[in-house]
Amino acid sequence: MKDLDWAALSFGYFPTDYNVRCYYRNGNWGEIEVCTDDHLNIHMAATCLHYGQEAFEGLKAYRCPDGKIRVFRMDENAARLQSTCHGIMMPEVSIERFKEMVCKVVRLNQAYVPTYESGATLYIRPLLIGISPQVGVRPASEYLFIIFVTPVGPYFKGGFSANPYVITRDCDRAAPLGTGCFKVGGNYAASLRANSKAHEQGYTCEFYLDAKEKKYIDECGAANFFGIKNNTYITPESSSILPSITNKSLIQLARDFGMNVERRPIKVEELDTFDEAGACGTAAVISPISYIDDLETGKRYTFSKDGKPGHVSTRLYRGLLDIQYGIAEDCHGWTSVVVE
Ligand SMILES: *Cc1c(COP(=O)(O)O)cnc(C)c1O
Repeated sequence: MKDLDWAALSFGYFPTDYNVRCYYRNGNWGEIEVCTDDHLNIHMAATCLHYGQEAFEGLKAYRCPDGKIRVFRMDENAARLQSTCHGIMMPEVSIERFKEMVCKVVRLNQAYVPTYESGATLYIRPLLIGISPQVGVRPASEYLFIIFVTPVGPYFKGGFSANPYVITRDCDRAAPLGTGCFKVGGNYAASLRANSKAHEQGYTCEFYLDAKEKKYIDECGAANFFGIKNNTYITPESSSILPSITNKSLIQLARDFGMNVERRPIKVEELDTFDEAGACGTAAVISPISYIDDLETGKRYTFSKDGKPGHVSTRLYRGLLDIQYGIAEDCHGWTSVVVE
């Protein structure tokens, strides 16, 4: 293993030794290639650069206390990439090829999987782009699927804690029948302005309502939302939300813990009735929310007065992390041992 100060790593890019690539040409995917170069040489008229033919995924590899390296639910990421491929007219990558490439790139870079004690992990970034040159707006005929990895530091440097959010009313991340449910870079470009404004105003992140009516909860930045009340886990239903694998897993865990689960439209005002609230995604698992401000109405929805996460959020967080690290029994078969 590399001798690095893992806990000091940020969420930047730290170089590793290899990435894996696969090209789609003449209607077929080619051989899996192992590369040491972390640059791409692509045509300046590639469709990914002009018309947003770009899909990505994000998952992690964990060095576990038993010495093994595990990856969490990669079949789910593979399936979601396929859905994104249909969404923006790209050829799909088979689940088997996706998994083979994830395993390969993690094994090749296993020295960069941080220690368990550091709280850091190896972030895995699959990326699919249209590369054939074209000025007319049409799907590309050639594609590159590439997976790189980079170690990332622990999400909660000062410990698991709650953060403030602000409702965005002058900017939408995604439209009801747009690409919000697909993991494409364009959605992130659309969120940058609101995110930057939220930071300027002193909030951790922006909070989106549905684009059409501005009545219902959509997403918290680039994470799914959940609220807890009366032993029930409640998460929004909307056509513009990205289906989070972390959320899907927390829903199952909540059921395992004997909680009820509701997935339905959530009116903004209902925020007042939640005992706990959080944002969820691969990066943090759960990022508890301390309060959400609606600057237009002057209303503050508070979930944690002292910045401490609630009991249910903490239990779900610990529960999922323990499965990812092979500490708790993986009764749903979510993890794959990639290095014994
Ligand atoms: C990736 C992503 C998430 C989180 O999904 P996970 O599979 O849990 O990591 C949530 N919202 C958006 C917009 C995303 O891009």
